[in-house]
Amino acid sequence: MESLRQYVRDIPDFPKPGILFRDITPMLANPEALTAAVDAMAAPFIDAGVEVIAAAEARGFIFAAPLAMKLNAGFVPIRKPGKLPFDMHSFAYELEYGTDELQVHVDGVKKGQRVLLVDDLLATGGTMEACCRLLEKCDAEIVGCSFLIHLEVLGGAARLSPYQVQSVLTYG
Ligand code: 5GP
Repeated sequence: MESLRQYVRDIPDFPKPGILFRDITPMLANPEALTAAVDAMAAPFIDAGVEVIAAAEARGFIFAAPLAMKLNAGFVPIRKPGKLPFDMHSFAYELEYGTDELQVHVDGVKKGQRVLLVDDLLATGGTMEACCRLLEKCDAEIVGCSFLIHLEVLGGAARLSPYQVQSVLTYG
């Protein structure tokens, strides 16, 4: 899987000075790399009895639908406020400056359903922790969290304890 690393482009000072952004668009644009990435994200959970893939917009959606098809699961979107049309659970969380909020339909995941959470990248873990809290409100059974990239130095995995965290590529 290390060969996938060549498709991740480092962009210094994006979206603001001092941030090194890992740009996955070269990987998305390459059919073999995209397929390999989806396969590798699914592999640890092939026999985990996953019934639902849940992911937050926007980059999480890119991987969620192909993973759902690969694992014979459904897809449930987690969205920013104002996007979902039906009754929803909400969870607000702290950002470096201010707060953000994510929402999921109350009937998106049934009590006890086995859910795999997916995103392109784990940084501070704030986004995925919010997703876990939302799925806990649904009384879902969280099977684990699958990422393409894990920026280990930011310590996000600790915030996702006790769930199983898997990633394809790690950066120190
Ligand atoms: P966290 O909440 O873990 O701090 O940030 C992860 C979220 O921010 C993910 O949804 C991811 O899409 C986005 N993100 C943060 N930094 C990067 C980055 O360097 N590259 C990409 N592709 N996404 C990032």
